[in-house]
Amino acid sequence: MKVLVINAGSSSVKYHLYLMPEAEVLAHGFVERIGEKTSELSHFCHGNTYTVPAKVGNVGKAMELILQTLVDKEVGILQQISEISAVGHRVVHGGEEFTGSVVIDENVIASIDKFADLAPLHNPPNLAGIRAAQSHLPNIKQVACFDTAFHATIPKVAYMYALPYELYEKYGIRRYGFHGISHRYVARRAAALMGKGKYDINAITCHLGNGCSITAVKNGHSIDTSMGLTPLEGVPMGTRSGDLDPAILFYLEEKGYDVKTLKSLCNKQSGLLGLSGVSNDMRELEKLASKGHERAELAIDVFCYRIKKYIGAYAAILDTVDAVVFTGGIGENSVFMREKICNAVTQIGVKLDLAANKDAIAKEAEINTKDSQVKVFVIPTNEQAAIANDTYELAKGRTSVLCGSL
Ligand code: ADP
Repeated sequence: MKVLVINAGSSSVKYHLYLMPEAEVLAHGFVERIGEKTSELSHFCHGNTYTVPAKVGNVGKAMELILQTLVDKEVGILQQISEISAVGHRVVHGGEEFTGSVVIDENVIASIDKFADLAPLHNPPNLAGIRAAQSHLPNIKQVACFDTAFHATIPKVAYMYALPYELYEKYGIRRYGFHGISHRYVARRAAALMGKGKYDINAITCHLGNGCSITAVKNGHSIDTSMGLTPLEGVPMGTRSGDLDPAILFYLEEKGYDVKTLKSLCNKQSGLLGLSGVSNDMRELEKLASKGHERAELAIDVFCYRIKKYIGAYAAILDTVDAVVFTGGIGENSVFMREKICNAVTQIGVKLDLAANKDAIAKEAEINTKDSQVKVFVIPTNEQAAIANDTYELAKGRTSVLCGSL
């Protein structure tokens, strides 16, 4: 069965064509700079890379170009588009409604639309991708996999903010959490690497990329996570502030900052970029810090310190920790950051094997010493494989894929 996985954002659409159940990637690529003059499609197939400049005005046009490319006589892989049996879509916000992946119908579409209020940058392009795929492939199952769904098991004590209760009832203000497809994937892989069942593991999963989040996984289920109502809460990120005293915003408002400026300040000018004043890219900051750049060093230190606090807090709520898992661009590639973080959390029983850490770049690896009480893994995330898997299961006829179940 061939399954197409779509991740539609506001300025790019990424795609992977899978052969299932083998989980073999037949072709993949992305359309980037949608809506700009310089948009283009990059397509990887048969070991070759093709780049096609094309004026792509919106997500619908990007989908059209992707499908045309997949059946293109020269660079494509399909004879006809009808060889695709199902499409899996990444959807950022599923509110409280979706506790797993689902086959898309009009009700699901209405809910994704409703939650656009909570994820205005993400749900609308996700939905545009769904509608475009439906119009080109009307007779096959389309599946939605939500970033929030893995966190549906977080108990009320962890998801409630200490605000007037009516705000939860009226507006759904609560912790939802994100990166759930990634946290679920790496937690399952860590369990498999330890020879444990997927519900037998307690882990702290650290997704450290441009966006960063940390999740406490108990018996295979998310019981708390650092991102909240939106992906702004938690540890500092490339350009996002993470946790703040909310009174800072009131104070700045009194100084003349309006809401739009504050949004941009917290989302686009803070985090590693705001602290360092030079870059949101960890590679760049590591280079600068090694040459004595004080603010790059400060950005790295704050990042590590806040991660340490989350790992400590999650160790406290988990009682026992079997594994700490690193994933995302920084987690998968930065030997330096992993060492710094692991050295900061030795109290929970983490002992890093320096040589194993050095060797673990962008590959699955166990990087703890033999006598470490807690395993430490590097696990490259594979959200598209997880989406392909759920889509395949639902296309075969399974009625639901709860996040607990795959
Ligand atoms: P996104 O959240 O956009 O998917 P990624 O998961 O690709 O982002 O992570 C991007 C981050 O990973 C950037 O901060 C980048 O600097 C960092 N990164 C990638 N490779 C390395 C590396 N070798 N060393 C340190 N940081 C790295």
